[in-house]
Amino acid sequence: MPMKDSVVFSNGQVVLDNQLILADLVIAQGKILAILAPGTSSGDNVVDLSGRLILPGFIDCHTHGGMGIDVNHATKSDLLKLSTFFASCGTTAYLPTVLTDTCEQTTECLLEIAAAMQSQSVTVQGAQILGAHLEGPYLCPEYRGSMPLSLLRNPSWEEFSIWQAAANDAIRLMTIAPELDGAEEFVARITEKGVIASLGHSGATYEAAIACIQAGATSTTHTFNGMKLLHQHEPGILGAALESDIYCEMICDGRHLHPGIVRLLLKTKGPERIIAVTDSIMAAGLGDGAFKLGVNDVVVIDGDARLADGSSRAGSTLTMIHAFHNILNFTDKSIPEVSRLMSANPARMLGIDSFKGQIKPGYDADLVVLDSKMTLQETWVAGSCCFSLR
Ligand SMILES: [Zn+2]
Repeated sequence: MPMKDSVVFSNGQVVLDNQLILADLVIAQGKILAILAPGTSSGDNVVDLSGRLILPGFIDCHTHGGMGIDVNHATKSDLLKLSTFFASCGTTAYLPTVLTDTCEQTTECLLEIAAAMQSQSVTVQGAQILGAHLEGPYLCPEYRGSMPLSLLRNPSWEEFSIWQAAANDAIRLMTIAPELDGAEEFVARITEKGVIASLGHSGATYEAAIACIQAGATSTTHTFNGMKLLHQHEPGILGAALESDIYCEMICDGRHLHPGIVRLLLKTKGPERIIAVTDSIMAAGLGDGAFKLGVNDVVVIDGDARLADGSSRAGSTLTMIHAFHNILNFTDKSIPEVSRLMSANPARMLGIDSFKGQIKPGYDADLVVLDSKMTLQETWVAGSCCFSLR
């Protein structure tokens, strides 16, 4: 559907300030212009939602791909196709996540991501790429999961600077293991440059993790997965994640975390600190089969992605709309409460909460429309319809 200058959604149940409120939503020039009493709007472009739901679009901070596209191998046009696919899953903004790779290949990935971002700055093309998430290479070998062992290394400011300069500052977030030599200083330096440090793939002690949090780390990557677990005498990185106020990524595909752990995390961290992510790979949106994840061969059986040698789980086949459904099923939380994990919290973590992640006048018109059965019906990015079930 072409972009319209303005459109009005009338009689929608809109997620506003953690409540569902029946209202009309006026969209103009890519932004939310006004929220009015229900049924009070008129004009050519009025869409009567008849009580269907409008939520802020989902923001995925951690995804390696979908629909046959692997971020580590993706060209600019692949990434734009990925954006279209993600829009069909309710995602309106995301961070393509680069799996640990060689210095040269990482540079190539970042150049393609920067080119796709440039293209999207001219016209809306599916879910908006907010920048890159680098998952490594500064990670702990013992907790590497699907990260290639031979490519893991200690933090290097020089290497990071080369990447960031080549990519026109496209690196937005980086996963780092706190126990590596120089990690604390590295976290402080990238934080100072506006890049978010997320702690993960790590067996760090509590003390090392707390030191990195004090140095500016903002989040933990797929909390519980790929990290040392809790012990009463050695709380470790997980203890530091739970005790501190940092954000926690959570993969809610029902495989990475038991539903009881999902509830425990939500209870421990509170409603404002959990971030739903997919950690999806190129198999998301496709059936079972053989796929790539960066340098790895991956096999998906019954939707479960594992390294071909079976040694480790390798990302997920989850989509954001399914994560939304799963969290509703796993918890007793309301639609507005779960919406925060999908939209407002990642926006705040990324520092873009003054214009994304909520439905408010002046905010980007990034929206999803759901029916009463929670089926995704439409996805709008910057006021442009990028997916419609009809
Ligand atoms: Zn990942």
